[in-house]
Amino acid sequence: MGDPMNRENPPTHPTPDTRHPTPSLAERIKARAFELGFSKIGIVPADALTDEAARLREWLDRGHHATMGWMERTFDRRTDPRLVLPGAKSVVAVALNYDTPGRHSDAPDAGKISRYAWGDDYHDVLGDKLAALLEWVKAEVPGAEGKVCVDAQPAMDKAWAVRAGFGWIGKHSNLITREYGSWVFLGELLLDITLDFDADGPMADHCGSCTACLDACPTGAIVEPYVVDARRCISFTTIESKCDDPELPTDGWIFGCDVCQDVCPWTRFRKPTEEPRFSPREGVIELPLATVEAMTPEEFQERFAGSPVLRTKLKGLRRNARGAR
Ligand code: SF4
Repeated sequence: MGDPMNRENPPTHPTPDTRHPTPSLAERIKARAFELGFSKIGIVPADALTDEAARLREWLDRGHHATMGWMERTFDRRTDPRLVLPGAKSVVAVALNYDTPGRHSDAPDAGKISRYAWGDDYHDVLGDKLAALLEWVKAEVPGAEGKVCVDAQPAMDKAWAVRAGFGWIGKHSNLITREYGSWVFLGELLLDITLDFDADGPMADHCGSCTACLDACPTGAIVEPYVVDARRCISFTTIESKCDDPELPTDGWIFGCDVCQDVCPWTRFRKPTEEPRFSPREGVIELPLATVEAMTPEEFQERFAGSPVLRTKLKGLRRNARGAR
């Protein structure tokens, strides 16, 4: 047998370079996802969300979803990704930081809009990035199938983010990351291929004895730690409710509410997003209630085209402006 270190007769099969191993497909998917601008990426098995389903069932049974009947109707698909993408094997979970430096106005005649709706609609921004990631995977793995999930598809975004190790669910029921606080949008790419899964597992809960969000909620919507009752929540009331008249005192909010996240001590780790589509639109941080009340349908469309605020329609935004006075 020859000497493998013989320089004149090197081995015919090159030994693998363990200093620079070929990246796995999972590693290359993550690298591509970071190139697309995502802040956090994790890959976990597309298993049924059994424990999370039990908690969702209890929340629904207590009526905390208010009139969001679609949450009940999509329960099975929401808790099992294999019913959303037949043959799903992997979930690529992503988070995208959306914080911007602006601060809400305290002016009594200004309507407050939730920070998540200051720029372009995150459904479009994350959807575009995840669609680009899916196309990249399909080019790498011919025949692979996938499904982009950004809220509109029934998926438990926070549950996947926890499984991917992004952070923990705070007592205000939002996902909290160490790097960005809770100012992150979440989405998933379901794939029917098996990848190397992340082994980190869920992160510990770091809320400790803090109760700042429960204490600060103007309407007492956090009825117990980790449980939000949508019927008392300003976000639900100003965005999802279809009532003609204001149902709650909204403390100046006309679209969504950020109080529980603004008071959270983990918010100090916020950092500005690098995503230009989340830059606040002109006039959205300090929008006079009188401007909303006098807005024409054409002005509403022009101002909020491509924005989450379109969801309420002008009628809903006017209702909210009345309620905020
Ligand atoms: S405000 Fe306190 S209790 Fe609420 S989510 Fe943040 S750390 Fe947890």
